[in-house]
Amino acid sequence: MRTLVVDHPLVTHKLTALRDAASDTATFRSLTAELVTLLAYEATREIRVQPVSVTTPVGIARGVKLARPVPLIVPVLRAGIGMLDGMTRLLPMADVGFVGLRRDEESLIASTYADRLPTDLTNRDTFVLDPMLATGGTLATVISMLAARGAASVTAICLLAAPEGLRRVEEAFTGDEAGGDADGDTASGDHPEPGSLGAPGGLGAPGVRVVTAAVDERLNKRGYIVPGLGDAGDRLFGQI
Ligand code: URA
Repeated sequence: MRTLVVDHPLVTHKLTALRDAASDTATFRSLTAELVTLLAYEATREIRVQPVSVTTPVGIARGVKLARPVPLIVPVLRAGIGMLDGMTRLLPMADVGFVGLRRDEESLIASTYADRLPTDLTNRDTFVLDPMLATGGTLATVISMLAARGAASVTAICLLAAPEGLRRVEEAFTGDEAGGDADGDTASGDHPEPGSLGAPGGLGAPGVRVVTAAVDERLNKRGYIVPGLGDAGDRLFGQI
């Protein structure tokens, strides 16, 4: 598993405003969308493409287009829905699947209540949207679901991450990548071959990546990220 903390002044500026308890719902929603688009730019750096040529008004230009099958975006209900607009702005052709997990407030264990994913994800790049990587239980479960369907890669885009959650996902999806590179990416391996995601549980999963705006201090006793930004779902959609 590789982690990329996107180090960019605009990302930090928007994240700081997002953290501010004084930011109202409208501000929080638009900041989330903008931040996701910036994170998505980095998260899609290794997306699969194929070469094409186009005829310009003055000649032939060689370029690329996104490979088929198109990528799959997976917002994790409910808070991940607030990240969908920012993601589809960059990948308007992508398919969208949905996963819902409920976290028990006592045990902090997540259980699945919604699964609207294609059964076959062979050769597909997938992007999981979940604003807060807290304990890592939800993300580990969603990655396992995508891996079981044969996804070529899983990139989780999270606004914020806790060290505890990163460790848990790292332990569940140990790849053969280690070390760091100049981009701050914590792994140096090449993009994996399609279908090389591997199985969870330490068998090797070089196609798993987490892209986040910041890694915070820790989780508190209730499983909230400190200093964090509070409950992302409530701030996006209100307390229900
Ligand atoms: N979920 C949230 O919305 N916030 C946290 O801090 C942790 C999990």
